[in-house]
Amino acid sequence: MGAGASTGDATKDMAAFEELKAEFAKAEGEEGLKAVQAKYEALAAANEISGTAEEHAGASKLQAIQRGRAARNAKGGKNKLWDSGGVAKGDPKDSDDFAYLTYPECPKWNTDKEKDGKLYHKSLMAKFCTPELFEKLKDVTTETGYTFHNAIQTGTETPHLGVGITAGDEDCYTKFAEIINPVVAGWHDGYDPATMKHPTDLNPENLKFSDEQVAKFNEYVVSTRIRAARNIRGQPLPPGSTRESAAAVEATLKATFEGLEGDLKGTYYPLSGMDAETESSLQSQGFLFQKPKTTNLLTNAGAARFWPESRGIFHNDNKTALAWCNEEDHCRIISMAMGGNVKDVFARFCALSEAVKSAAEGSGAELMWSETHGFYGSCPSNIGTGLRGSVMIKLPKLNENVELLEKVCASFDLQPRGSAGEHSAAVGGKWDISNKQRIGFSEVQLVQKMIDGVTKLIGFEEELAAGASAADIEAKL
Ligand code: ADP
Ligand code: MG
Repeated sequence: MGAGASTGDATKDMAAFEELKAEFAKAEGEEGLKAVQAKYEALAAANEISGTAEEHAGASKLQAIQRGRAARNAKGGKNKLWDSGGVAKGDPKDSDDFAYLTYPECPKWNTDKEKDGKLYHKSLMAKFCTPELFEKLKDVTTETGYTFHNAIQTGTETPHLGVGITAGDEDCYTKFAEIINPVVAGWHDGYDPATMKHPTDLNPENLKFSDEQVAKFNEYVVSTRIRAARNIRGQPLPPGSTRESAAAVEATLKATFEGLEGDLKGTYYPLSGMDAETESSLQSQGFLFQKPKTTNLLTNAGAARFWPESRGIFHNDNKTALAWCNEEDHCRIISMAMGGNVKDVFARFCALSEAVKSAAEGSGAELMWSETHGFYGSCPSNIGTGLRGSVMIKLPKLNENVELLEKVCASFDLQPRGSAGEHSAAVGGKWDISNKQRIGFSEVQLVQKMIDGVTKLIGFEEELAAGASAADIEAKL
């Protein structure tokens, strides 16, 4: 007998509801949901439940709560709105909260921006991963056990990403070159690691920053930051790490940080066990990274597993030289300061880069670097210099026309980000403007491009403030 056959027996309903609640309490998530549903069906079939409106509301509320728990408890790794066909087969790198997927066949890319909306596959990976290439690479595994499926998971399950492929170790750049090289070329203006060599220039004296530019930057720029990725050769990168390898990387970096001297001397703060006060103080000053959101590249790449284990942050005593441990890369070196003195910030960046290199080598480690790829990183968008030089800048007029701001940035190879990092909003008209490219140009050239591009941006901001229209600006691009 179905639940619709109502006799309205309140005592019976109360008893049935207690039984349902008992099932509800026994298990959480998917299991709990199944148990509540099964009990409800059994009670209804035995006519032990009258099916009054109250009872229905109660049972469906219990089921809704269980459904919510099931969604929350589900392992990360899959897109919640759409099934890519990926199956969890028990990858040795799986954690309690994350499952790596295997794709039985090439995922069907959603390529219609209008129709597919949020599930539109924007990435270069999706563009180059044809069924033919998928067939060719699907059984390829790297030296540390990172599979082709692991590499494409984040771009498949997080369709809005621009790059869509991650490296779990240095070997990925060789084994998956057939897809990574076109992605690198697509992102970095045609740079081809198969045929080209990447230049390095870490001499701050080669930077041109005129007195006029210095004055303008001091007027508009709130703070300046230059960072780059540095990874330890031989260890898997965070998307492919294990608990043990991440701990080994942290140990090497700790020894490296202890080797820093003079102006760079400082303290390492592990994220696990960090007290709330230190955490909020480091975060409010913009030094500390946050646990990646599910929409971030890191989560579906598997790089947020066993968070916050083996993660941490180093800073020198006056907090102008920083290093992150085991976020997107083994190490991110960061030089930052209030104001717009880009040359100073770059000089300290160069010193930090040299010091980290020699301290790492002094403790027996080598950095991942080659003439063709420069410094390696977890994301192909970050190889070469791995350098992002940014200014936090207030642009109230351009902020009124974000489309124009994006066009201006694109025409000078700049990337605008919001005030709290990638994919965040620009609070109070404050933008983080940085170089877009990382490879094929030296460190000096990229910082120079940022300085010169931002100089243009400030010029346009002033023209808009003086009454110029968007069309006037566009005509100059
Ligand atoms: P990245 O990948 O280069 O580390 P993110 O976009 O992930 O950059 O941002 C990291 C953090 O650094 C964010 O909190 C961001 O607001 C901060 N940040 C970036 N540029 C600057 C800057 N010029 N001044 C101050 N903080 C900055
Ligand atoms: Mg980042």
